[in-house]
Amino acid sequence: MEEKSGSEKSTALTRYPEYRMDIGIEIHVQLDTKSKIFCSCSNALTDQQNQNICVVCSGYPGVLPVLNRQVVEFAVMAGLGTNCNISPVSEFERKHYFYPDLPKNYQITQGEVPICTNGHVMIRLEDGTEKKIRLNRIHIEEDAGKNIHSDLTGESYVDLNRTGTPLLEIVSEPDIANAAEAKAYLKTIRQIMQYLGVSSCNMEEGSFRADTNLSVRKKTAQELGTRCELKNINSFKFISDAIEYEVERQIELIEQGGKVRQETRLWDSKNRRSLPMRSKEGMADYRYCIDPDLSLVEVSDVTLDRIKAKMPELPYVKFHRYIKDFNLSEYEADIVISDIEYTRYFESLMQSYNHKTSVNWFLRDLLGYANDQKIPVAACKVTPKKLAKIVELLDNGTINNKGARQLFEMVAQDGSDPEQLVEQHGLKQIGSEQELEKIVEQILSENAKLVEDYKSGKQNLFGFFVGATMKATKGAGNPKIIQALLKKHLN
Ligand SMILES: [Zn+2]
Repeated sequence: MEEKSGSEKSTALTRYPEYRMDIGIEIHVQLDTKSKIFCSCSNALTDQQNQNICVVCSGYPGVLPVLNRQVVEFAVMAGLGTNCNISPVSEFERKHYFYPDLPKNYQITQGEVPICTNGHVMIRLEDGTEKKIRLNRIHIEEDAGKNIHSDLTGESYVDLNRTGTPLLEIVSEPDIANAAEAKAYLKTIRQIMQYLGVSSCNMEEGSFRADTNLSVRKKTAQELGTRCELKNINSFKFISDAIEYEVERQIELIEQGGKVRQETRLWDSKNRRSLPMRSKEGMADYRYCIDPDLSLVEVSDVTLDRIKAKMPELPYVKFHRYIKDFNLSEYEADIVISDIEYTRYFESLMQSYNHKTSVNWFLRDLLGYANDQKIPVAACKVTPKKLAKIVELLDNGTINNKGARQLFEMVAQDGSDPEQLVEQHGLKQIGSEQELEKIVEQILSENAKLVEDYKSGKQNLFGFFVGATMKATKGAGNPKIIQALLKKHLN
């Protein structure tokens, strides 16, 4: 966080305070459907090129597309999850362009009438403030294939496995003002899609890709400046870097009397700079037209109600509920909601044992352990019920902190029952006052000289007596009782 504000200081916007930046983001989310959007080919990832293809997704003449119902359902869920209006009727258009990875020479997409319009999401910034980012639309489209270029032979190959993979394109309004907001927005959308279960949103695998439209203008100017599009950057870090670079390039160009050209630019993450790729096509170049092979997409009230009824609780709502119901800090709630697997574990833990100690053990010990072992929390042998038991044994004084840590380690190894382990390994703390009183009396008689020193004013010796008694109990004594006993005997 410190580092963040440090780098923010050096941005062009701070050096040129009379300028502002307007960023709109287009996100492509690859949907996790079983089959592709217009044929029954598998939508699963495979290493074998051209394995999941048929005459439809390979663009043979005379074939007809059949829309996958699941795609429409996922699109409606995405729209409801981002507060969009759902169009009762929307339509597919053809977007024409020529490229080897697009065998039928047009992409089926939604044009003038998309399935979702006019939404918004709330993003949370690092300082805790919230901002509303409006969505222009969400539409359904198909993906193209991939060209593979061999450095070895200089030849190029076409792999059509990805052709016809269903995508949602989520288009924001230019409400995003800087790199930090862009990052928060991307995280928010990604979380919502993951919670809805419509996509894994794995950036490395390309199932969550962002194109950033960015322009600058003087704060006094009414109209947006000329925008550049930064294509397909596949990490949050690179997107921030690219925005920082691009705002500086554009402002300095204008300051030197130049003009920003409307173009698509590539981000070169190695040399940390953007490079022109092509000037942006106008809408006319794509020769959009209604696809005559596909019927209109209808979402009836019945369908809409059915989908509404099964919508899960979304991250923003969970965040505020956790703070209210479980007394979490914003920082803690933010960690828990960052991954839907965390929320499942956490809610199950709270159902078993709803105490602040559980929250601490989940955030510190369970997440720490899962991260160290690089395993998902659901794969931890310390299940929510077992962690609840460990924390309960600690809270009711059966074991002390040290014992609880040992117990956690042991359960994590083989998933044994915590209560049985406590018996087997003698982890119970020596809790009875009589037992501890004997030990305290012995420690004090062995250290008569120090007791005198303490009584004559060396108060800091108290810690020594606590330590010596704890040591005599081999760490199994209840520190609170020991302290009380020592006070009693030393006064
Ligand atoms: Zn196919």
